Amino acid sequence: MKIIIFCVVSLLGISQYAFSALDPHTHHAANFTFVVESEKDGKEVQLVATFPSQDIFGFEHRPKTVQEKQAQRDGLKKLRAKLLGMFQFHSKLGCSGEISSLKVAYLTEKKKPKSKKHKHHHNHGHKSKKKIAEHSEVRCALIWQCQQAVHGSRLKLLVRSMYPVLKHLDLKVLSDHKAKIGKDTVIF
Ligand SMILES: [Zn+2]
Repeated sequence: MKIIIFCVVSLLGISQYAFSALDPHTHHAANFTFVVESEKDGKEVQLVATFPSQDIFGFEHRPKTVQEKQAQRDGLKKLRAKLLGMFQFHSKLGCSGEISSLKVAYLTEKKKPKSKKHKHHHNHGHKSKKKIAEHSEVRCALIWQCQQAVHGSRLKLLVRSMYPVLKHLDLKVLSDHKAKIGKDTVIF
């Protein structure tokens, strides 16, 4: 059973990027997928997090002007500085985390005919005459090593207090223990 679970976790870990490149993303929503490694006795937690670029540096297209390049750099720098602080593991666990990657991923989608409804709004700077709408998101990977297994412990998320513009968090936990997901908490 453990082997099966581990394979599923690995596949999901790899395909996460592929899937999100195909799906239209949701604005003002961040996506977090936590993986509690059963092979590491629950003492290692990995996270793949995606944030809408709009909410991190103000636009989604590739930066063209000096101002846009600066805004993107500043927004990413601020996110990098705040990122680990968004996740409060119980202090008794002795978890220490690090950011293993943080980068902007650009997604393009073909515009649908006018009659069809869009899955999300386009009123944030996409030019209506363009045939291709450019979207982007900031993708981050984090990893925590803990002294004790995280099973049964509560993780507090301070994401919304740091970025109030993020109205929705989509949380998932992949683990061989049943996790409980709250609005701004995860119990592993
Ligand atoms: Zn978009």
